[in-house]
Amino acid sequence: MKTIGLIGGMSWESSLEYYRILNEEVKARLGGLHSASCIMLSVDFAEIEVLQREGRWQESGQILAYAAQSLERAGADLIVLCTNTMHKVADAIQAQVRIPFLHIADAAAHAIQAAGLHTVGLLGTRFTMEQDFYRTRLVEQHGLTVLIPDDAGREIVHQVIYNELVLGKINPESKQRYLDIIAQLVAEGAEGIILGCTEIGLLVHPEDTPVPLFDTTHIHAIAAVEAALTEML
Ligand code: GLU
Repeated sequence: MKTIGLIGGMSWESSLEYYRILNEEVKARLGGLHSASCIMLSVDFAEIEVLQREGRWQESGQILAYAAQSLERAGADLIVLCTNTMHKVADAIQAQVRIPFLHIADAAAHAIQAAGLHTVGLLGTRFTMEQDFYRTRLVEQHGLTVLIPDDAGREIVHQVIYNELVLGKINPESKQRYLDIIAQLVAEGAEGIILGCTEIGLLVHPEDTPVPLFDTTHIHAIAAVEAALTEML
């Protein structure tokens, strides 16, 4: 089994999920006492969040590239960045390591294509919903049609992430607001919804919605296990 290198802490609430899913999936596939070979370098999210808010992406890219290099030196065979938003600096990270980088948007697109869907809604931080690094990749590299909430909806989704979910707060009112936004995207033609923030799966679950959810935390972690076991199977 290859060793999975995780850059975590953004936030640790979802990094915990990655760790759980990796181990459950390896156990399910290999049985017995098997568990995931992995290393996590978990950053201080307060430092990263300030850099996000102030648009200092080059600095955050340097921090995360250094984390990736540390994981490579420690023996990781692949890099998994446990957040959608910070894939904005994926190129800066990738450029500093020799081992593969498993892009979260590619993993999401493959899952959507495997489900035979073409038009999806995207929920995430404003950075993820509005900027090119994520949405354009889904459209241009994977041929998907990607719908996002209107401005008011994007504000709700973004604020709930930063004021509640990354702090571990699960609020039923916020959940209902998310479900209303999802219902609107479905009315506009979304056949599925990308949970494009690694904490949203803590709030909204598959049984809550009329269309399939593509939880990037789950999809990304499973893709990491597949990559880690590929040469073994
Ligand atoms: N974990 C979130 C994401 O997947 C948001 C926190 C962050 O900004 O990194 O985008």
